[in-house]
Amino acid sequence: LPPIFTAAFPVLDKLNEAGYEAYFVGGSIRDLLLKRPIHDIDIATSAYPAEVKNLFPKSIDTGIKHGTVTVLNDGASYEITTFRTESGYQDFRRPDHVTFVQNLAEDLKRRDFTINALAMNTKGEIIDLFNGLSDLKKRLIKAVGDPATRFHEDALRMMRAVRFMSQLDFKLESKTKKAVSEFHDLLPKISVERIRDEFVKMGTGANSRAAFQVFLDTELSEGVPDFAGKKDLLAIYPQLKFNPSMETSLWAVIIILLKIPNNEIGHFMRDWKNSNAMTEKVKKIVALFDLLSEKSPSDFELFTAGKDILLNTIDVAHILGQPVNSEALVDRYTALPIKADAELAVDGQFLIANGIKPGPKLGQILLLIKQKVIAGEVENTQEAIQDYLNQIE
Ligand code: ATP
Ligand code: MG
Repeated sequence: LPPIFTAAFPVLDKLNEAGYEAYFVGGSIRDLLLKRPIHDIDIATSAYPAEVKNLFPKSIDTGIKHGTVTVLNDGASYEITTFRTESGYQDFRRPDHVTFVQNLAEDLKRRDFTINALAMNTKGEIIDLFNGLSDLKKRLIKAVGDPATRFHEDALRMMRAVRFMSQLDFKLESKTKKAVSEFHDLLPKISVERIRDEFVKMGTGANSRAAFQVFLDTELSEGVPDFAGKKDLLAIYPQLKFNPSMETSLWAVIIILLKIPNNEIGHFMRDWKNSNAMTEKVKKIVALFDLLSEKSPSDFELFTAGKDILLNTIDVAHILGQPVNSEALVDRYTALPIKADAELAVDGQFLIANGIKPGPKLGQILLLIKQKVIAGEVENTQEAIQDYLNQIE
């Protein structure tokens, strides 16, 4: 077993010695068996949160209502969740109540997919009550229990299905897929933030093109912001040259496929509840991509974009199969005399000291100098810029 599990043995042992059951559960078991990187491990126990806290003096009430306590042990932190069931999904999203239960089986039954419903004890024995092991072998995403019921309980699970398809490069089991098609219109009951998080995981997963096809075929795409009625444009996604791996590239590709005009990108990104920082970056990428498709961007445009945006835009062009001479572009960027405003040999103070009055004119002159320096027409030294100023006075 990898150290991430063995390091947690003392935590499970402590629970066991106090008379409680404790298991590793969820995604970490799945990823262990698939030999995928494991980022965090979850522990499920029969102990109540208060009992967990009694055993581990260093703990944080991360989700105490839902039975989750984060325990610190030997420099690592572990989420320990009391066995529970969820009931009364009145609004197709989160459960109204969680009920703590005394056995693992009940806890595993509430989990979304068979491959996510595996548990493991400290002997490395796998508890597989829903044939998750067989579905892992068959590379299938299959709902635990009746898929229609499970999607009515929590419609987000339909997005999680296509998300895991993409991340794991799995197929959707046929009854589960049929239920997604049938009940896709429950998705808008879920908050945009939660839909977005799953959408981004799908879009940056290893096989998002295949997952996206199912996202379209099942009409899940009709229930997410600004996608309704756009199936014909989105149908290009499964034909992309590459799967996006960066979130910024994903959004830029989607915006380009949907032919969203520049002045509506902000609106689109806000509809998806994206951050301003994400929106600004994506706007710059799409703008530079437009320049690349029309003609070659000028040195000043490359400067304005910056290296990060340039590389990201080249990534987008690759994904879309748009030919770009990326080496030449990067070489041109590298050869720019300055890469940031701060590298300009002069600033506003310098101009004022040289007799230019503060005001809008000063800003214009500074911009002009910057353009001349970037174009290689004026050397980036105070002397050369001084000469240039004398010349234009
Ligand atoms: P990741 O690698 O993305 O963290 P994960 O499988 O750990 O994948 P989480 O969203 O962290 O996914 O959830 C942890 C576990 O909780 C899942 O493996 C699953 O057993 C259960 N789970 C999470 N969300 C749901 C849900 N909406 N419905 C049912 N079970 C869920
Ligand atoms: Mg997880």
